[in-house]
Amino acid sequence: MGKVLVVGGTHGNECNAPWLLRTPRPDEGGLNKNGLDTAGLAVLPLLGNPEALAAGRRYLDRDLNRSFEPALVADPSRGEHELGLARRWLDRYGPLGKEPCLVALDLHSTTAAMGNCLVAYGRRPGDLALAAALQHRLGLPLYLHEGDPAQSGYLVESWPCGLVIEVGPVPQGVIQARVVEQTRLALEEALALLAQARQGVLPQPRELVVHLHHGSLDLPRHPDGSAAAVVHPQRQNRDWQPLRAGDPLFLDQQGRTLVFEPPAELAGQTVCPVFVNEAAYGEKGIAFSLTSRQTWPVRPEWAEALIQLARGLEAA
Ligand SMILES: [Zn+2]
Repeated sequence: MGKVLVVGGTHGNECNAPWLLRTPRPDEGGLNKNGLDTAGLAVLPLLGNPEALAAGRRYLDRDLNRSFEPALVADPSRGEHELGLARRWLDRYGPLGKEPCLVALDLHSTTAAMGNCLVAYGRRPGDLALAAALQHRLGLPLYLHEGDPAQSGYLVESWPCGLVIEVGPVPQGVIQARVVEQTRLALEEALALLAQARQGVLPQPRELVVHLHHGSLDLPRHPDGSAAAVVHPQRQNRDWQPLRAGDPLFLDQQGRTLVFEPPAELAGQTVCPVFVNEAAYGEKGIAFSLTSRQTWPVRPEWAEALIQLARGLEAA
């Protein structure tokens, strides 16, 4: 048996989810002390990185959402603040922790115009079932991140099932009521669907639209590492929108437009950039990530896997 872990503030400069999780609302039926409608499920709200939140920084020593790499967590010689947090949260709330959680919902915001969306890591059937149900109910696009050795150690991967709910655009460190409410909408719907799955039912669409991670592109750079171009104005704020060969991509300091040349392996596919000009990804050398838009048939074993897991969820 276990609870649903709901994490806000994994990145300390993303303040909307912490606001949602901290804000009390008048008690109504089905609302817990944090003002969330948890659909009768036992939910454990957690501020992922309180010290970074207090400092108004994404992290103190390293990105917490790249710190759940088992080898890093197990390495006692690594003393970074965020690895300490990863160990603490796994010890307390991990699937084998003192207060075990079976599902992790990790709430983020982004400076990119991603709207209200979902991020999954890999192809775990339960994650795909929850994402399909959420997409069916709310129309949320799904970014499926996998197989990128430069980007790993995501929080939700350490729990048996988990998704990221990502909302943007919103500047770092800024709370916007609209973003808080979008986060609440997706979170409460996810909890409602998990509660249904616990009862043995999970409405599934016939198809799931997936934006499959292909890789990331950096800005063109000078030899000293400084940016030699910016994201082209015709590409800014156009996350999820198809990018075709010859479309403007970057604008250099001489005002010249650099256009998109699709990599050979993406030929014939619908290529959609995501996290366009996300402020936090500059340090990672990412101007945006490239995805291919695919429509997958929803497989019955996805819902079966989630229902099986959700039977172990505790009631509030
Ligand atoms: Zn984040």
